[in-house]
Amino acid sequence: MSGVAAAEVLARAEAAYLGLALGDALGATVEFMTPREIARQYGVHRQIVGGGWLHLKPGQVTDDTTMSLALGEAILADQGEVRPLSCARAFDAWMRAKPVDIGNTVRRNLLAFRGSGLAVAPPSEADAGNGAAMRVLPVALASFGRSEACVRACVRAQAHVTHHNAMSDAACEFLALAVQDFLRGDSLREVFRLRISPLVKENPAFAFRHRPRREFPSGWVVETLQAVLQAVVDVGGFENCLVDVVNRGGDADTTGAIAGMLAGALYGMPALPPAWLKALDPAVRRACRVQARALLAPQLA
Ligand code: MG
Ligand code: MG
Repeated sequence: MSGVAAAEVLARAEAAYLGLALGDALGATVEFMTPREIARQYGVHRQIVGGGWLHLKPGQVTDDTTMSLALGEAILADQGEVRPLSCARAFDAWMRAKPVDIGNTVRRNLLAFRGSGLAVAPPSEADAGNGAAMRVLPVALASFGRSEACVRACVRAQAHVTHHNAMSDAACEFLALAVQDFLRGDSLREVFRLRISPLVKENPAFAFRHRPRREFPSGWVVETLQAVLQAVVDVGGFENCLVDVVNRGGDADTTGAIAGMLAGALYGMPALPPAWLKALDPAVRRACRVQARALLAPQLA
């Protein structure tokens, strides 16, 4: 890869990580609200102002971003490898530090890990939440340039610590591979043809086109991904895409985070709204940029 191309890939990776944090911070304000409640209170919610049910400071992020950063640190400590035991320990330390929010499946399976020492959760039909998908970005960066089979294995290694479920796996693998496509410079059209269409073909539950607008998406990974894909595919531009998805309400910090990571990788740094970047917690902003580069740089050398 040429120097110029590598610099652009690194910049897109930073934009993806910042996009994740921006979507989380934007969406958390309206998490669990209905579109009607959001409209009544904000008109269109499009500023990073904190608040919400978690009473966040403006620019504060939630588990979607902080779990991703914890996972990324574990991967860096293992020289770019994704080891389930290291991931489980990192998540457990993250949980002990009393995060502002935590998903039920994450808490249950991390408590089980504390008891058993087993870093792989038992397979469960019920564990189809979006908690593993929302934190997949560091794995996408650390496995950039590896074979598709290897990327999929790395993704599952982190996901199964808390979510051992086929639908979660399908979503996590798709997201990591789609982020990598965008980092390489593939267009939305190409990614739609080569990545999104096959996902829906193999897993018809994820179908999102010619379907009613997915409003109030729950934490079920299927609804989450439908809302995210409707926004990313049908709404152009980074800011418009995130505004569209968080104003659907529901699990808005997580749909915002996932849409932000995809749209960040697709549209790159110039597309991130300066007012949002300014509002984002400075320590988080720095951590996202530093970690994006640290995770990806070895693959570009
Ligand atoms: Mg959250
Ligand atoms: Mg959430």
